[in-house]
Amino acid sequence: MIRAIYPGSFDPVTNGHIDIAKRALRIVDELVIGVLNNSNKTALFSADERVKMLQDTLGAEHPKIRVESFSGLTVDFAKQVNANIIIRGLRAVTDYEYELQMAQINYELCPELETTFLMANIKYAFLSSSMVKEIASFGGDISDFVPPLVADQLREMF
Ligand code: ADP
Repeated sequence: MIRAIYPGSFDPVTNGHIDIAKRALRIVDELVIGVLNNSNKTALFSADERVKMLQDTLGAEHPKIRVESFSGLTVDFAKQVNANIIIRGLRAVTDYEYELQMAQINYELCPELETTFLMANIKYAFLSSSMVKEIASFGGDISDFVPPLVADQLREMF
């Protein structure tokens, strides 16, 4: 039984995140999406709102995915839910340096935990939560980038 965590801010979840989560199910049996509730990182949506958006988007259709919020270290969250793999998405070379550093630090902290990367789908390689928020804040159309319920919440927010 391989259980993985997919940690991130998900502020808010985009189609790129959803693509990674669904593809991760091809290589793991269970996926726990961990929404980072980190007080020193200012988020547009609360952790509860981010969890709910992910659950409403993926929950019912995918019984092997569950969503939880966590604070503190990713390795501690992995231990808490009994996961032995961390899934992360890689979009471009710009992601690489940060992700390499995180993977190396997490390995030092917990060598039993393996970080695995899935390459972003080319359709979503340019997509980030911050880009989506910026477009939404200027009234742009974000319907191709996020699930419909997230687009509605962003429209309400701005
Ligand atoms: P973090 O603040 O931890 O980077 P994000 O919510 O921005 O949290 O991203 C969570 C994970 O999803 C990261 O591994 C990131 O590289 C990946 N990711 C973000 N956007 C995309 C995308 N469009 N396609 C594939 N992976 C993505």
